[in-house]
Amino acid sequence: MTPPPERYDVVVVGAGPAGSTAAHELARRGHRVLLTEEHPRVGFPVQCAGLVSQRVLELAGTREMVLHEVRGATVWSPALRPLQVKAPDTRAYVISRSRLDFLLAERASRAGAEVRTGWKFLGLEGPVSATLPLALRFQTLPEGEVRRVEARCVVGADGVTSAVARAFRLRRPIEILPAYEVEMPFPDGDPDEVEIYLGRHVAPGLFGWWIPDGGGMARVGLAVQAIRGRSAREYFDALRGQMARRWGHPLPDPVEILVAGIPVGDVPRTSGTRVLLVGDAAAQVKPVSGGGIFTGMRCAQRAAEVLHEALAQDDLGGDRLAAYDAAWRSDLGEEFRRAHYLRRVFLRLGDEELERVLQILQGTDMVRSLVAFGDIDFPSIAAGEVLRQSRSLMSLLPQAVAAYFQRDRGRVPDVGPRISRRAT
Ligand SMILES: Cc1cc2nc3c(=O)[nH]c(=O)nc-3n(C[C@H](O)[C@H](O)[C@H](O)COP(=O)(O)OP(=O)(O)OC[C@H]3O[C@@H](n4cnc5c(N)ncnc54)[C@H](O)[C@@H]3O)c2cc1C
Repeated sequence: MTPPPERYDVVVVGAGPAGSTAAHELARRGHRVLLTEEHPRVGFPVQCAGLVSQRVLELAGTREMVLHEVRGATVWSPALRPLQVKAPDTRAYVISRSRLDFLLAERASRAGAEVRTGWKFLGLEGPVSATLPLALRFQTLPEGEVRRVEARCVVGADGVTSAVARAFRLRRPIEILPAYEVEMPFPDGDPDEVEIYLGRHVAPGLFGWWIPDGGGMARVGLAVQAIRGRSAREYFDALRGQMARRWGHPLPDPVEILVAGIPVGDVPRTSGTRVLLVGDAAAQVKPVSGGGIFTGMRCAQRAAEVLHEALAQDDLGGDRLAAYDAAWRSDLGEEFRRAHYLRRVFLRLGDEELERVLQILQGTDMVRSLVAFGDIDFPSIAAGEVLRQSRSLMSLLPQAVAAYFQRDRGRVPDVGPRISRRAT
């Protein structure tokens, strides 16, 4: 006789930063939570460059995963002209991403969530209804056994390819940027800063990066627009060439390689009857940098707040859970809107225009503003400040965007500690 299915208040699918944060927040409020991860070990394989702001350390409640601190960046133009933006204080942290994921899942478990690895969400059994609990189907790996679980609701934190979004038919008209990153021994370079490589021939649609981990290794990678006929790996070879010219020697052989995708775009609905999407599953990713750890964790907190009340009222219908869409958009919607604007402008710039933009930014006051307002979680604020200061920069932009930034000052919403704003 098959045993009756286990019952939970919430099943969270995916033990990345967003899923483990949601599981922790719900478990500590007393709900019965199951957190499932398809891989045998939380945090592996790593699919991230691991550069985060102070806010991530605050949200995680620990600095244990920090490997190194950086104070700024050098941006290399397509013709390899440098623009250095360096602050007197720490602006970002290089972390062990696998350690972060482990610590967050462990915190969720300590709060009472049940964590199961090797549990892959397959789909739903039966219809979704506001009156009946959900029947969820999982496959245990590597055994391949199918298990059934009942839940009052589900949080889809299962990343860019979200099976939960598919199961609940939450349409996701997003762009997925293919990314390719390697880790290599790299003792040269300024350990206080990261490097960014721009150029259509190097990384169309985003940029290349070099991130020192402070221990003699560097994470080198890029993400690009998915352009037919050329893979991220092929662009990576061009980036290697660009970096070899910049460093004056060929790059060492990699010790780790990762291939992944970064979702960019606006998902119109991140909730439905008995379901919420968080993190990459909801494309809660910063459009100009592709970073999604802070945004995913912050939105997961919002998801837990809304679910906590909805569970207490036993109202898990689509209308009630739409409060989550409103909640996370009130934190981050404005920044995402501005950043999508900026990204669209960036996509229109050819290499010559990029050279001009960086040349204009070389002006001392511009760099000073970038340092003073630079905040990796809210890049549109620094962008707005420099745009307002420079007529020549404005003249490069479509009129609507220029007018928009001239009119409105961005603001950092109350989402955690403020980033220091001292200029050099
Ligand atoms: C190359 C690269 C570099 C990046 N660098 C940075 C950076 O420096 N800083 C930054 O902030 N962001 C960075 N990002 C983005 C960041 O990695 C993501 O935004 C972040 O991981 C999103 O967290 P998440 O919890 O939503 O999803 P994920 O971290 O993707 O976690 C989803 C989890 O769900 C699991 N899962 C998937 N399907 C199922 C299923 N069916 N059943 C059960 N489990 C499932 C996965 O195994 C995974 O563990 C980078 C991304 C890439 C690709």
